[in-house]
Amino acid sequence: MNDDVSTPKSTPRETLIGDRACAHCMHPLMGAAIEREPTTGLLYVRCVECGAASALMEYPVATPWVQRMKSVVATGLVATAIAMLLVLAAIVGGFTTGAAMSGASLSAQDVYDTFTLQNPPSADDKSAGTWDPANTAWLDSPAGAEALAQSRWSADALLPFTTILALGGIAAVPFALLIGVACMRWAATRRVLLVVLTAGIGWILVVGPAHLLAASGRFQANWRDSVLEANYLHFAYLGGLVFCGLCALCALIAPSVASIVFRAILPPRDRRLVAWIWEWRGKPVPRD
Ligand SMILES: [Zn+2]
Repeated sequence: MNDDVSTPKSTPRETLIGDRACAHCMHPLMGAAIEREPTTGLLYVRCVECGAASALMEYPVATPWVQRMKSVVATGLVATAIAMLLVLAAIVGGFTTGAAMSGASLSAQDVYDTFTLQNPPSADDKSAGTWDPANTAWLDSPAGAEALAQSRWSADALLPFTTILALGGIAAVPFALLIGVACMRWAATRRVLLVVLTAGIGWILVVGPAHLLAASGRFQANWRDSVLEANYLHFAYLGGLVFCGLCALCALIAPSVASIVFRAILPPRDRRLVAWIWEWRGKPVPRD
């Protein structure tokens, strides 16, 4: 037991854990000191009962593969995040314009109602409601401007507007969250900035042309189109603001959401594969 003090490899000495029995006398070997045979480098334990040596096997550990797997997952996530950015921009742009078009054109009913209230049509007038040619002189007057301003917050307009916006929100949230997870090594402000910037670019690409259109001035049209033109940007800005806020929130809470989700679906021993979710934030992998 004490003839190999000259080999520094054997100190500090490890002891055998797990159930093993001596091949000669069946004496349990648990707790026996593990020694290395100096010439071959093989590990063995010596039975305390009969003195027979039992060889131990050293298996390569899986740690390098786990490390490699982690970086594969992380790289894949970053690549996915770039694709997600494009999708998020498209969702924000698409749903903002859809919601704004719907809200703005339906707000025409409110404006038209106000107009007919102030200027009752004669009994023999054949009216097609908001499809009638708009009275642009009235729309440009203070009364028209007030009616337009009120119509922007009417239930007729806000109900379809918020419905479409909510659908867009449902579509955008998973993408914003995934980007947030992929970038969780970053500080929260940087994460939020990236996602909000993406949403902003998607928004500008869609709303920008409408800005130019509005600048070209009003042309003769029905109530629906005239009010749509006048109110579109109001709804577009409102939608953009909602999307930016939602995306910012998602980017902010994404790491916590990921940690809750993986903690719920993965047993502690399998969390090693997604250990970066905690390690990147300098937190220990939860073991319960
Ligand atoms: Zn033995």
